Amino acid sequence: MNSAAWIEKADKYIMKTYGRYPLVPVKGEGCYVWDADGKKYLDFLAGVAVNNLGHCHPAVTAALSKQAHELIHCSNYYHIPQQIELAELLCSHSFADKAFFCNSGAEANEAAIKLARRYSREKHGSDRYEIITALSSFHGRTMATVSATGQEKVQKFFDPLLHGFRHVPFNDAAALREAISPCTCAIMLEPIQGEGGVVVPDASYFQEVRKICDENGLLLIFDEVQVGMGRTGKLFAYEHFGVTPDIMTLAKALAGGAPIGTMLATDEIAQAFVPGTHGSTFGGNPLVTAAGIATVNTILSEGILNRCEEIGEYLMGELEALKGRFPIIADVRGIGLMIGVELNAPGGDIVKKALERGLLLNCAQEKVLRFVPPLIVGKKEVDEMLATLTDILEEMK
Ligand SMILES: *Cc1c(COP(=O)(O)O)cnc(C)c1O
Repeated sequence: MNSAAWIEKADKYIMKTYGRYPLVPVKGEGCYVWDADGKKYLDFLAGVAVNNLGHCHPAVTAALSKQAHELIHCSNYYHIPQQIELAELLCSHSFADKAFFCNSGAEANEAAIKLARRYSREKHGSDRYEIITALSSFHGRTMATVSATGQEKVQKFFDPLLHGFRHVPFNDAAALREAISPCTCAIMLEPIQGEGGVVVPDASYFQEVRKICDENGLLLIFDEVQVGMGRTGKLFAYEHFGVTPDIMTLAKALAGGAPIGTMLATDEIAQAFVPGTHGSTFGGNPLVTAAGIATVNTILSEGILNRCEEIGEYLMGELEALKGRFPIIADVRGIGLMIGVELNAPGGDIVKKALERGLLLNCAQEKVLRFVPPLIVGKKEVDEMLATLTDILEEMK
């Protein structure tokens, strides 16, 4: 079946929750995907920061195939070796002592919200439940994470929202301090806002946030669903800011494209989850955690973090140079291969033109081109992307 036929069938059977582009990818390898008509695309979206190792990385594909032949699913009533091993890997490379596994970023944040509330209630009493989050944040699409998300467009017509969230401007420690009440139990933030338009806070912001948490007995939750797993050139983005959270969530790139989420915490906080308090049928099953182990080991072992930093700097430099040539570019920002180009006009047309020319790009908040390519991207692919982008900007001049 060709792309047009698939799109016609999608119109008939698929709910319209996404504004989908007219693209039907059916095969991927490294930084490239092919559509149902055989056309090749350079992928600078990577499934929205999921395919950090590129498409069908041999280590991930091998782990999935091997595990699929041994045991796909059992139950969290039993101990799961792959889950245990992935937890050990993540804890030994982070601040955390223990992991809980689920299936997505939103679920990881749900788990974080539940753990923060349970821990705070147990420790401080029944009126400690409120969580402060940032405006322009994104934490997921479940009811609790929609309530946590600081964007009206995500919440519209889904009210009544979950009680107990308060939103403040991002990168504004004074506003945070001001918002604290006797009910506050935690502060939940993305180290770099992704959907919010690749917003990088000042270097001192998180130091101040950590201090505010410590002074007030609040938990600091980092949502690293998008920026974790090497995206910024370090395994976790918090490593850039010289602070550690109490709870951290991961998902997107954690298992090379297999659906997974995890919530990590220190021992002291994790003990608030006792048997029967939280769970997930599929969470951390043998198949996805086998893919997770392969993904984390590959990210750590093949120089991918250094390469991400190097290529990220190169890409940032080249985009800065474009800013000098094209007045539509207002700002270039980011860390590693999490890069945003803010435009003076909506970016939808650029994304459409890029697609026609075989380049997958994304635009966040209507005006921010978001570059989150696979971390294995080379200078050759970056140059190919830049040539296409330059052509498009010339044409629109
Ligand atoms: C994508 C994302 C989520 C939601 O993850 P899902 O897997 O779609 O539920 C949560 N937080 C951040 C920062 C994200 O980028």
